[in-house]
Amino acid sequence: MRKILEYIVPDTTEKTLELLSKLDNYKIIAGGSKINQEKTGEYGLIDIRECGLNYIKKIDGMLHIGAMTKISELLDSDDFCGLGQCFVKALKSTGHAIVRNQITIGGSVCALTPWFNLATLLLLSDAKLLYIDKNGENTISFKDYCKNLPRNLIKGKLLKEIIISIKKYNFNYTRFSQTEVDYAPLYVASDVVLSGNNIESAKVAISGCLSEPDFFEDIGLSGVEANRENIEKACNKLHDSIKDRIISSNVNFTKEYISKILPRLTTESIMEAIS
Ligand SMILES: Cc1cc2nc3c(=O)[nH]c(=O)nc-3n(C[C@H](O)[C@H](O)[C@H](O)COP(=O)(O)OP(=O)(O)OC[C@H]3O[C@@H](n4cnc5c(N)ncnc54)[C@H](O)[C@@H]3O)c2cc1C
Repeated sequence: MRKILEYIVPDTTEKTLELLSKLDNYKIIAGGSKINQEKTGEYGLIDIRECGLNYIKKIDGMLHIGAMTKISELLDSDDFCGLGQCFVKALKSTGHAIVRNQITIGGSVCALTPWFNLATLLLLSDAKLLYIDKNGENTISFKDYCKNLPRNLIKGKLLKEIIISIKKYNFNYTRFSQTEVDYAPLYVASDVVLSGNNIESAKVAISGCLSEPDFFEDIGLSGVEANRENIEKACNKLHDSIKDRIISSNVNFTKEYISKILPRLTTESIMEAIS
């Protein structure tokens, strides 16, 4: 059984960091939807709800989302602050209405569960993470965070905000699951730019079926005629390059099944994006 040794509610980020540096065996609690599912361990909790991290600010064309902002609060802001329907779609399919009032965007980035709905979109939009540690404030791109053992990287740090450049993103966003609010084992998002009949660039992000979300800047479609045959070929090649890393995070879908679906889903995502 889990034993909570102490529950502290600091009212500033400075106090939180002081506590994190002084106290071993303490964890941050945000919305609690993940950490409160832990069944074992003995540790203290630092509740950051009073630290002023619940905000959405627009500064110089950038959206700054405080780590404690809830998924439901992001949905309240029109068109997710102008970022477009792909973001709204991802937020709306995050759990159900009650848990959306609990889940924070910061907790989701730190937990980085395979079913984190926003992961592919944060990769494609090149979001940045602002964190604080004993050396002060620092930023890291979400891409680098995903690449560099994210769960270890965040230890001893406080994620302060997520920063996204404000523009209307027209990414194609696919969440593959049995039902709309089920845990999804596979997410694919694509960002395709056309130049006449040719593809100028095709960026793809994949999550759910890899241990960490991954981003593919160029899948070999740049300058290629935009037709199904070329797209299918490139998506099969992409799949070949990552097939050994595919995992299944959902008991309802085997790894082999996910592996079969992935190249098809990627192809359809790009086909939809160009249609
Ligand atoms: C029934 C259910 C369905 C769900 N479905 C989905 C879904 O479809 N899609 C989806 O994206 N999510 C979904 N979630 C949410 C997801 O599984 C995680 O529970 C959630 O993202 C964690 O967010 P939280 O704010 O509750 O974090 P917490 O549980 O409080 O914390 C999670 C981890 O992050 C650390 N942490 C939190 N905030 C910070 C910070 N600011 N700085 C440093 N470390 C921090 C904590 O120490 C902990 O290790 C679902 C959850 C539930 C309960």
